[in-house]
Amino acid sequence: MVRREKMSSAQDQNALYSRMASKMMGKTDGDNYTLDDMFVSSAAQREGEGREEERMRSKAIGESRRLNASMERCRHCFSSRELQKHLVVAIGSKVYLSVPAGVSMTEGHCHICPLQHHCSATGLDEDVWSEMQLFRRTLVRMFESQELDCVFMETHMDPRKRQHMVLECLPLPRELGDMAPIYFKKAIMECDEEWAMNKKVVDLSSKDIRHAVPRGLPYFAVDFGLQGGFAHVIENEHKFPHYFGKEVVGGMMDLEPRRWRKMIRENFDDQRKKVLEFAGWWKPYDCTKTAE
Ligand SMILES: [Zn+2]
Repeated sequence: MVRREKMSSAQDQNALYSRMASKMMGKTDGDNYTLDDMFVSSAAQREGEGREEERMRSKAIGESRRLNASMERCRHCFSSRELQKHLVVAIGSKVYLSVPAGVSMTEGHCHICPLQHHCSATGLDEDVWSEMQLFRRTLVRMFESQELDCVFMETHMDPRKRQHMVLECLPLPRELGDMAPIYFKKAIMECDEEWAMNKKVVDLSSKDIRHAVPRGLPYFAVDFGLQGGFAHVIENEHKFPHYFGKEVVGGMMDLEPRRWRKMIRENFDDQRKKVLEFAGWWKPYDCTKTAE
C-alpha cells in the first residue's frame, strides 16, 4: 500500500509539473514565480518525502526489534532460553505439551503451545492448528480414561504485546463438565462492557475460532472436550481479567481465588513430580509416537 501511495504521488507530481510548466511558458518576466522556484519547491517536497520514508523505516525496524526482544524473553518459544524445558511432556512437529510452571489449578492442568512464536489461534497456519487439535483429541481421550471431562481455553489479550499463544487444558469431574457450558455462558454474558459493540457470546459449535473472530481482535475462547464452546471478543481489557476462564472453573470447583489470580510459585521438586506423573498418564496415548 505504501508503495502504491508513493507511486501515485510521484505520478501526480509529474502531472502537476507538466501542467505548471505549460502554464509558465506564456508568463511574462514580471511574473515572480519562475521555473527555478518550481524546482526548489519540488526538491523540498522530495526531501520531506524522504524524511517520511525514513520515519516509516525506523518505525518498522523498531517494531521488529521489539518483537525479537519479546521473543528472546518469551517463556513459551521452544527455542527460547527462558523456556523451562523440564516442564515439557511431549513435543510434536509444530506444537508441544507442558505443565504450568506455577501450582496447577487442578490435577492434570496442562498447556498446548506452538513451538514457534504465534500469538493467537486466529493467526495460526493450518498445520499448527491441526496438530493442536490432535493434541486436544489425545488429551480428551486420556482424561476420559480417568473419568474426567476437560475444557480448553485461550485468552488473547492486548494483541500489541504479541504474547505467545497458550491453549490451556483444565480437567474437571464429569458432573461439573456437563455443567461447564452453562457456567461459562452466564459468566460471558455478565463480563466486560454491558453494551458491547460485538455480539457478546459467539457460538463455536458449528465453526472454530478462526472463522468466528477476526484476526487481530482480543478474545477469550473456551471449548468443552471435543465440542465447540463459546468465544467472546474483549471490548474493554481493563474490565476483563486475564484469569477469567480459570475464575469460572475455580468457581465451579469451589477453589480459593488465590489459585488463579496470580501464579503461585512451585519448587523444582514439585514441578518434577508433576511432570513425571503427567508423563505416565500421557505415554499410552502419546500422539507424537503414532501416525494418526
Ligand atoms: Zn514465544
